[in-house]
Amino acid sequence: MVVRFVRELSRIGPAFALLLVLGCGSLRDHPEPVQLRRAQMQMGTIVTLTAVAPTKAMAHAALAAGFQEVRRLEELLSTWIPTSELSRVNAKAGHEPVRVSPDTMLVLKRSLEIAKLTEGGFNIAIGPAVQLWTSTEEPRIPSQSELDHLRPLVDWNRIHLDEAAHTVFLTEPGMRIDIGGIGKGFAADYAIAAMKAEGATGGVVALAGDIKTFGRMFNNELFSVGIQHPRQEGAMLARIDLDNEAISTAGDYERFFLYNGVRYHHILDPKTLQPARGCQSVTVIAKEGWLADGLDTGIFVMGPERGMELIERLPNIEGIIVDSADNVHISSGLKNRLHIEPIQ
Ligand code: ADP
Ligand code: MG
Repeated sequence: MVVRFVRELSRIGPAFALLLVLGCGSLRDHPEPVQLRRAQMQMGTIVTLTAVAPTKAMAHAALAAGFQEVRRLEELLSTWIPTSELSRVNAKAGHEPVRVSPDTMLVLKRSLEIAKLTEGGFNIAIGPAVQLWTSTEEPRIPSQSELDHLRPLVDWNRIHLDEAAHTVFLTEPGMRIDIGGIGKGFAADYAIAAMKAEGATGGVVALAGDIKTFGRMFNNELFSVGIQHPRQEGAMLARIDLDNEAISTAGDYERFFLYNGVRYHHILDPKTLQPARGCQSVTVIAKEGWLADGLDTGIFVMGPERGMELIERLPNIEGIIVDSADNVHISSGLKNRLHIEPIQ
């Protein structure tokens, strides 16, 4: 799920050159802002932050604050960290409610909103099925009876959020929340808020394929991102300028294995607990990262027709769906905004 920077990357060279000039004490009346970019491994992926700010010190502070915010959320939400709040919620499934912080409550609340919007296509109770598909080092296809056994656990109506008591309760033992389908977009929103609080006027937060931008580049242009072609590695489907927007892609081409010519990937249909079959990739553009990320996964499960209907129905949401027959569906609000790349 590689949505790559295009113009932003190519301009980073001049940004550094500019930095040198400013760093040498050039005092112009209206100095151009500084643009810095840094990458780190967080949330099991490469997180790349770009900050545009009036001074180098502010840009550095914005980057540091953005990374720190992602780290903080990872410690709350990662199910790889046994002490995280979500790990504790999962560990107490069927036993007792667990008290959580407002941020954890919020990501769960939003996840349930997306479950409703996508008719259950997006379902954070998918955890036990994800675990079964990934439980062995070598790829393995679980039997249908193994999967059927898990079905009662994959039920988001059994996730009880008590906002007044600040608790979360999974009512059945063995239930497990997995926020892999929304967590990165949610984190992008927080990282941007942290960067703005440090005085950044523009920037990009990219957690692998979950990207959110704010403001403009150092040269006052919008940030531009490319949308990966799902079947041609390194080729782009299209490019788009983002204006204070988030973009997120769910695809079957990042984590998958092939068996007897069938592609088994990491987005599961909660009805069958098998990889969802209707799409190759779903890209969603929204004002908020959590919405773009949650919807891309849920719409992938809904399939191209119902999925595009939902995109058209929702205000301020746009999208591109590549279906399993290679057809590209583009939402009406995007048709004039996309720069289509010639595919080699
Ligand atoms: P990524 O960018 O990590 O590939 P996606 O937004 O494409 O994330 O979501 C895929 C992840 O979401 C899976 O790795 C899994 O953790 C989780 N997931 C899989 N199927 C579903 C589903 N139907 N609803 C919600 N989350 C899911
Ligand atoms: Mg997603």
